[in-house]
Amino acid sequence: MHILVAGGAGFIGSHLCERLLKLGHKVTCVDNLKTGRKSNLHEVQKSPKFLFLKRDIRKPLDLPMDFIFNLASYASPPYYQKWSVETMLTNSLGSYQLLELARKRNAGYLYASTSEVYGDPLKHPQKETDWGNVNPIGVRACYDEAKRFGEALVMEYVRKHQLNARIIRIFNTYGPRLQKDDGRVISNFINQALQNKDLTIYGTGKQTRSFCYVTDLVDGIIRAAFKPKTRGQVFNLGNPGEFTMLEAAELIQKIIGRPMRLDYKPLPGDDPKRRRPDISRAKTVLGWSPKVQLREGLTKTIAWFKDQGKKR
Ligand code: UDP
Repeated sequence: MHILVAGGAGFIGSHLCERLLKLGHKVTCVDNLKTGRKSNLHEVQKSPKFLFLKRDIRKPLDLPMDFIFNLASYASPPYYQKWSVETMLTNSLGSYQLLELARKRNAGYLYASTSEVYGDPLKHPQKETDWGNVNPIGVRACYDEAKRFGEALVMEYVRKHQLNARIIRIFNTYGPRLQKDDGRVISNFINQALQNKDLTIYGTGKQTRSFCYVTDLVDGIIRAAFKPKTRGQVFNLGNPGEFTMLEAAELIQKIIGRPMRLDYKPLPGDDPKRRRPDISRAKTVLGWSPKVQLREGLTKTIAWFKDQGKKR
């Protein structure tokens, strides 16, 4: 198949391009390189089946293809809040451009949404049938509401044009190529630990997240795209292991092998208190569940960050 990966130079997108090439597909990656990095494509660019185009999905695209993965968006809280209007337009106007392209080319489509659509969840763990608890005028709304709009748009194309489209809701993901300065908790903790700095804990550190290793996530993305009976469906993709930020900080100290001081900072606005995916649907329909536990994944990620440090 000829596959378009929008946002393919990003952390998750670049791993997806790699996996699709391994499966024998021809891959065109489009990225505006605002947070994506050409260096993430170092390996895939060696393949004759890979093409990179620097494009912004808010502008119309016309390329021949059989399937579109739309992963194009700012995704970390400091970035989507800094580039708030761009984030909203990428997931609305940009999504529209790619959905139109899929419709014209009769291509399949997968939209990368987020656990943020659940906002500060009222139910725990989160199921795909939950409608979420989002502050529509808060500081995270630029991302949460943009993704919710992106999801609604996909469903209209499924209903009105019978598009072969599906939605995934990605929960916190980590692994090699996580952007060093993206401001998220895992990259912050690892950078701080490797530079002998204090680990920054926002709020009490008792809020929870569920962290999925990137190769597990990519496996789920591929299944959601190509397994039968996924059209018009939405899937939570994440690792149900739930950790407080204090527990995550402790685990990083154990892996690195020395105690570190904690530097408590104020909790950012609308920061969700708990997050854990219910992945029953992905298990049943996709036959998917994550394999890599947090300690193993963090060990690999820390090794990658150390290696990058040596290269610099
Ligand atoms: N966080 C933290 N220290 C940091 C960065 C983040 O304690 O240096 C907290 C943040 O307040 C949130 C959790 O870690 O409760 C996960 O934050 P992240 O930005 O990684 O992703 P989110 O799930 O909030 O989108």
